[in-house]
Amino acid sequence: MLTEEKQRDVLELCGRLIQAESYSGNEKAVGGILADYFRAHGFDEVTVDGYGNVIGCIRGSRPGPRVLFDGHMDTVPVTEPEKWTDPPFGAVIRDGRMYGRGTSDMKGALGAMACAAAEFAKSTGKDFAGEVYVAGVVHEECFEGVAARSISAQVKPDYVVIGEASELNLKIGQRGRAEIVVETFGKAAHSANPEKGVNAVYQMAKVIEAIRELPPTEHPVLGKGILELTDIKSNPYPGASVVPEYCRVTYDRRLLVGETEESVLKPLQKLLNRLSEEIPELRAKVSFAVGEETCYTGEKITGERFFPGWLFDREEPFVQKIYQELTQHGYTPEITQYNFCTNGSHYAGEAGIRTIGLGPSRENLAHTQNEYVEVEQLIGAADCYGHVMRALLQ
Ligand SMILES: [Zn+2]
Repeated sequence: MLTEEKQRDVLELCGRLIQAESYSGNEKAVGGILADYFRAHGFDEVTVDGYGNVIGCIRGSRPGPRVLFDGHMDTVPVTEPEKWTDPPFGAVIRDGRMYGRGTSDMKGALGAMACAAAEFAKSTGKDFAGEVYVAGVVHEECFEGVAARSISAQVKPDYVVIGEASELNLKIGQRGRAEIVVETFGKAAHSANPEKGVNAVYQMAKVIEAIRELPPTEHPVLGKGILELTDIKSNPYPGASVVPEYCRVTYDRRLLVGETEESVLKPLQKLLNRLSEEIPELRAKVSFAVGEETCYTGEKITGERFFPGWLFDREEPFVQKIYQELTQHGYTPEITQYNFCTNGSHYAGEAGIRTIGLGPSRENLAHTQNEYVEVEQLIGAADCYGHVMRALLQ
């Protein structure tokens, strides 16, 4: 367990991270606080990359694996601050909880990681095998795993620890996520003479009905590869007395392990081909949504919205090593999966790096009003991260 002084350190750093508002694309201030902490606490190197990811490194005296702790610095916005009991950027501690946007998701975990690494360096005198990295990552909330690509290219980690909320359980996988766009192209006409045009919305209605009949893919552990319509838009909009010439819908697709861009689009393309044979005037297209966001550094971050799923076996040696170390120190982690998408999509799903999730708090507190983290969980997370370092680096 952490000393009282160390516990105070964790709360102090987490509080400062929470107090710096850091919506996606505006992580500069929180990144500065993190970098200052690294510099003041014995980190050997602190770098900020083009996207604004802040990475601190501590090198052990002996060669060994690189262990990367990943925590995103951005949060979802506070939409109705007046409905919060405590100020959303106050980091008020009350009744054993710290309140504020990002406490659970996930500046609390990030602060705990930084403190744990500093403490590990101090208590070992850096006499350990390998390197510890702590990364504060930008643009996770709408772009999971994209900014993380730049971090893994620099660090080349052997292991990654994702700090998303797990109630101090160990997460060995998650479904991934893709955004699929289906478009239909009709022909505009005055709505007084609709027979002169092709109504793209009627076309889309047929496509939507057919897509609903597609059986979802399934995985014994991760569940169903859900495909759910999330929005629809026609053009022109609003359409005063005009037959719409264009319609676009977005689907959220949950991805299972091993599903690729090709394998996900194939059944949809087949379905559109079949419909086009049945309905001669149908013109439709399916593709992945492409996202572009601006980083606080000014750099653009772009990519298709396709974030793969991943899953490790619970018997993997690195999972068992961490599990044993934690149970020997009084923790009782369950080994399960995340129900949401994380930066693990990149590290494990794309890059095949051994990845585990371990973080304070419950996942259903993320993105909520009066978001909080229990102080006990926060302190526990810092302690657990120290044990992970000992398990993998000694
Ligand atoms: Zn998160």
